[in-house]
This record gives sequence, structure tokens and C-alpha cells, in this order.
Amino acid sequence: MAEMTQRQKYDLKRQIEELKQAKGRHTELISLYVPPSKQIFDVNSYLKNEYSQSQNIKSKTTMKNVLSAIESIMSRLKQFKKPPENGFIFFVGHKSAGADKTEMVAHIIEPPQPITTFLYRCDSLFYVEPLEAMLTEKDLYGLLLIDRRECTIGILKGNRIEMLKYMTSQVPGKHGRGGQSQRRFERLTEIAAHEWFVKCGETASEIFLQEEELQGILVGGPGPTKQYFVEENYLHYEIQDKIIETFDTGYTDEFGLRELVSSAAETMTDLKISREKKLMKRFLKEVTKTDGSLAVYGEMHIRKALEMGVVDTLLLSENIRKYRVKLKCASCNYSEMRTMTEEQVKEFESVNCSKCKGQNSMEIEEKIDLIDELSDLAEQTGCKVEIISTGSEEGDSLISAFDGIAGILRYAVEL
Ligand SMILES: [Zn+2]
Repeated sequence: MAEMTQRQKYDLKRQIEELKQAKGRHTELISLYVPPSKQIFDVNSYLKNEYSQSQNIKSKTTMKNVLSAIESIMSRLKQFKKPPENGFIFFVGHKSAGADKTEMVAHIIEPPQPITTFLYRCDSLFYVEPLEAMLTEKDLYGLLLIDRRECTIGILKGNRIEMLKYMTSQVPGKHGRGGQSQRRFERLTEIAAHEWFVKCGETASEIFLQEEELQGILVGGPGPTKQYFVEENYLHYEIQDKIIETFDTGYTDEFGLRELVSSAAETMTDLKISREKKLMKRFLKEVTKTDGSLAVYGEMHIRKALEMGVVDTLLLSENIRKYRVKLKCASCNYSEMRTMTEEQVKEFESVNCSKCKGQNSMEIEEKIDLIDELSDLAEQTGCKVEIISTGSEEGDSLISAFDGIAGILRYAVEL
């Protein structure tokens, strides 16, 4: 399975949040983890066995709920000949929905990493921890080591380092034979070095551009060469933009990759944050400009700018917690879109129609998470979407000062 996009991560995170909130009134929520190697037939026999054992549950309603959850899983299983690439997880059961009511929840999730152990659990909470753990360790970084003799290109996926390319140069050492030819020798050396850097820059750019989900690039090597290489823009500008920091390493070969990752380790946890910080700083700098500002904020302005196709980067706080809702009138069929908070959606009953004035005739027909809806809109116009986490000063200011939605324009426009 390809790397998850920020969007897929966000959607899965939200799904996990929802599952975590679900509480059964008794032990009647089923979590079932099926590894990719497991036969559907075996899962079925396992469930049949659980089904017959559950008929001994004392409480009648609990028994009924558990049985119906197992039935629901079994009927969904029928749609599969074998588990998907990474296996799948079923979360099914009746969650408590206040007072005496329960509500059926049924999620089938294909996880971002393969499931290794078959697991069936019936409890008053869903068992989401193994799924949650898969989300946290999948960050992707580019690694580049360079000096005048060697260049190594690799990738860091979670905790795994992969070497992708190793190259050596023909650049002669800095010291020539002295005398008359010294200057000529130095000039030739510099030309050779320049050609070497061009080659390394092109190769690294080509490799890194293929990794769409690359979160940043770490550059290492001994001495000042790496700095020179970075400052002289030998990399493609999109790759150049992703450089997080340069680090000193003793080696520029495969061993150096491990060295680079461990020297970066301390800052690793801050890397995601620092990338987001960079984006937010770019936005905040634009906000303060009075002339030709590229900042845009406020849901209405953002929508307008997206429709015009002038947004370069859309910044969305992962904490927006709003929905785009379609209200429809039952008597005249008029419909309108609104943005509502989670609470507003929960407490929504019905409103009068603004067209035919029908009493309480407008109901919620559809709802979609605002982040998903805006991301769709953005993707249609080739705008980049960045989901910004909270917990840093900049990330928090996005939600507190800008309602969680901001954008950087391609060029200044009147909105
Ligand atoms: Zn109406």
C-alpha cells in the first residue's frame, strides 16, 4: 500500500476518535483484527463458534446485541474472497446513545500497515490501540549525504532507513602540484566539483520528486560542502523547499545515513512541527502586509479564492471539527449548504424553509467533514492542502485567530 496522504491520515484519525468515544452499555462491542494471510473460511468458523457461545450470555439484550453484531460481521465477510492487502479490522456493536437508546456502529477499516495477529475482542469499548499505533510511525523523510567524493541518497520511513543510491566522484583532491599550474589546477578542480554537484542535485531531485508524501529532507556530510551544495541551489526548487536542516556526519556512505538519522533524532520529533511552523510563519508574515498580501482567511473568502483557483496552499487545522451540511426542505425541495460545528449538528432539529417558509421543513440531508470538503475543493484547482496540528504556538493561532482555515495565494487578488 502506498504511503497515506495527510488527508487519509486525518480521516483515519477522526474515525479512531469516533470509535474511542463509543461505549457499550455492556460488553457488546466487537473488535476483530484479521491479518492478510488469514482465510475468510477460518474467520467464519471462528465467528460461528463465538456465536454459539454468546447464546449463553445471561442478559437478554446484551445477548441480542452481541449476536446481531456477529451476524453483521459474517454477512459483510461474505463480500470478500480473501482479506485485503493489509488485512482488515471490524468494529461492530451497539453503542449507548443516551437514555435507553443504543445505536449500531459498523466500521470496516483497511489499516495502513499489515495486521500481524488475528484478534477477536468483545468488550464495552472498541479495541483501537493497535490501529492507532500504525498511524504514528509512518513519517517519510529524504536523506542526502554529500561531499566532494561521495554522495548517498536514502529515505527514512518510520524507523526504517533505505539506501537508494550511492555515487562517487572524479573530483581531484584540493591540493595540486604547486607552482605555475596551481591556479589552472584549482580552476579545473572547481569545474569538476560543480559538475559533480549538478549530477548529485539532479539525481537526488529525481528520486525525491517521486516521493509525493515526503515530509522533509535531511542533509548531512563532513565539513562545509553540504552547506555550499544547499546554498547554491543544486536541487530542484520543490526539493530545496523541503530541506529541514543540515547535520555534520563523519561518513557519506550507507553508514553515514544511520549517522545522519541519529544526529537528527533529537530534532526528529520536532520536524513535523517545524515544517508546519514554517508554513504558518509564511502565512502570518503575509497577514501583516498591507500591500499585495498573499494571505487569505475566513471561510467565505477561502471558498471564493478556491473557486477562482488562486490559492497556492490551503492550511487547515486538524482541530476544526466542523461539517459542511446540506439542508433540504421536505415540502419544496429547496436546498442550501451551511457550515456547522459538531454540537450544532448534534443538536440540530429542523428549521423553517427560507424559500417556501415551511415550518420546520428543512432537515439535514447530507453532512461531510469540513476538512474533507475543502480538501476536495482545493484538489480540483491544483491547490496544496496542509493539515496543521495543534500544540505549537503557530498551530494554535490558526485555530484561535483564523477559525482553523487559512490560505496562501498564488498572487495577490481582490476578493
Ligand atoms: Zn421549502
